[in-house]
Amino acid sequence: GVVVDRKVYHGARFHAGEVGHIPLDPDGPPCGCGKRGCAEVFLSYRRWQEGASEELLKEMAERLAHLCAITLSTLDPGLVVLGGPLAEATGEKLLEEVRKRLPRYALKVHEPDQVVLSPFGRDAALLGAGALAASRFVDSLAFEEVM
Ligand SMILES: [Zn+2]
Repeated sequence: GVVVDRKVYHGARFHAGEVGHIPLDPDGPPCGCGKRGCAEVFLSYRRWQEGASEELLKEMAERLAHLCAITLSTLDPGLVVLGGPLAEATGEKLLEEVRKRLPRYALKVHEPDQVVLSPFGRDAALLGAGALAASRFVDSLAFEEVM
């Protein structure tokens, strides 16, 4: 997701922050979205479970550094927060490797320590969905008061 001024930015079609489907290799493996080589094909927890190794960690870090640089150049955020099962499983090791590789892809105005780990781990998506539902409920109450 994308957070701007402490508010979730959803985008015109409710897909803001869907960086998992940015193709990092258009000739890469097929993705569930119908394209090839999307970031999430390379950076999935399933892939890590099936072949966790130092070599895979470094390959994932290379691709994630590329993806973080795209995000940094597009949005210029204060932070890029890594969450979910892969980030939880690989933790500081993946973060350290991403930070090492980031200068290869990112503009010099961006610092490696702009990439951080989420404190929510694999619960990040669930907590985000709950927060979104709660905020919509609060918004609907506010709308009813005005009516
Ligand atoms: Zn995709």
